[in-house]
Parts: sequence; C-alpha cells; structure tokens
Amino acid sequence: MRPYILAETNWEALKNETFDLAVLPWGATEAHNYHLPYATDNIQADHMAAESARLAWEKGGKVIVLPTIPFGVNTGQSDIYLDINLNPSTQLAILNDIVEVLDRQKLSRLLIFNGHGGNNFKPLVRELGLKFPKMFISYCFFPQVLDKYAYFEEKGDHADEMETSLMLHLRPDLVLPKEKWGRGAAKSFKIKAFSEGWAWAEREWSKISEDTGTGSPYKSTKEKGHRFFEDITKKMGDFMLELCEADLDDLYE
Ligand SMILES: [Zn+2]
Repeated sequence: MRPYILAETNWEALKNETFDLAVLPWGATEAHNYHLPYATDNIQADHMAAESARLAWEKGGKVIVLPTIPFGVNTGQSDIYLDINLNPSTQLAILNDIVEVLDRQKLSRLLIFNGHGGNNFKPLVRELGLKFPKMFISYCFFPQVLDKYAYFEEKGDHADEMETSLMLHLRPDLVLPKEKWGRGAAKSFKIKAFSEGWAWAEREWSKISEDTGTGSPYKSTKEKGHRFFEDITKKMGDFMLELCEADLDDLYE
C-alpha cells in the first residue's frame, strides 16, 4: 500500500491525515498506432504521477494522487473506433465537482497531471480559479517537462518514438512486436499558417494518419523510455514538493 496513492490507502490511514497537494492524472482512451494499447496515455500518466509523488513523499511532501481520469478530449477522432471523447465542457463539470470537494475539505492545492495532447486545461483552470479563490490549481503536460528531442530523434506527437519507448519501459507486455508497428506517417495542413503553428484548426485524425500514429516509432527502445521516465519524474517530484511547501500568500518575486 502506497500512502500517497488514494486508490490504495484506506480510512484507517486517512481518518486523521491531511495532505497539502492533490494530484489528478488525466489521460485518454484512444488508438495509438497499431501497436500500443488504447490506455497508453493513462498508463503513462499513472506511472509518472505515482513515481513523482513517491519522490516528493520521501522528501516529506504531503501529496496524494487521485485516480486517473481515463477519458480525454478526442473531438478530432470521432470516426476512429472506440476512441472515447469527453467534451471540454464535460471535463469542466468533472473538475468542478472534484475541486468542490477539495475546497470544502481545505486541501487547497491541486495539480492536474495531463497525459494527453487533446486535453487543454488552461481555460478550465482559469474559470475554476475564479469560482474557488482559495484553491491554487495548476496543470502540467508531461511531454513538455523536458526537451523531448534531447532523448528522442524522430519528430512526432502521437504513438511516436517517445510514447513507444515509454511503453516499452512501463508495460512491454502491452506493446505488439516491431513487425506490427505502423510508420506513423502524418500529413500536415496545406494552409501554411496551420503547419507553421501560429494558427490552429482541429486535424481530422483519420485523414492525416493511416495507422493513427503521428511520428515514426522505429527508433524506440526501452532504455530511452527508462531514461526519459526517470528524468521527468525526478523533476516532477521536485515540483510537487515545491507545491506542497509553497506559501500561497507569497508566490511572487
Ligand atoms: Zn498518447
């Protein structure tokens, strides 16, 4: 039983306990090229949040990891079989209810640990921050914690070298053998502004990728995944500890 994982702890332990920081991992259920499981984002977020919390806990951080929300925003994949979409407005409703509990019970720091690129928490955090002024709500998206191209060679953002390497490290039993991997070749918009990234429109996923992957997985190894995982969780663990210890009345310099 890990005392910083809510799903594993119990009332005996929590009856007289208090925490400083709640961490909410948030993933998605979606196809990841041919070879990775639908729960890839959940598995990654689960493991990373738990390991980061362990590192913070061992340095004295009072952190509790809530169960991972397994569905994310998949509005661009509506025709991909059993990609389960949660609309942003539904996410706001879920977050609102969770924050309400934390606020009432004076657990006033929440970190949303995002594991899925389609989830966009900024507008939700803004709106909830206004509604719950005593809460300090933040979020992070793990591929942005470090420069991923210091670890991986191939460009990509879905079922790519990074995700395949991570899954080879975390759950090799759920990764199909290499001969089944798709190329992860992705088309980009003809309109320049979108491909340059300064304008945005939703990509219709089934039209940009044949195998649902974007980014070649072929150079993936479990060693790369291991190194990336360790470095991210170390940095995230320090961040969680800092959030636990921060003086909310004195945040700026
Ligand atoms: Zn993913």
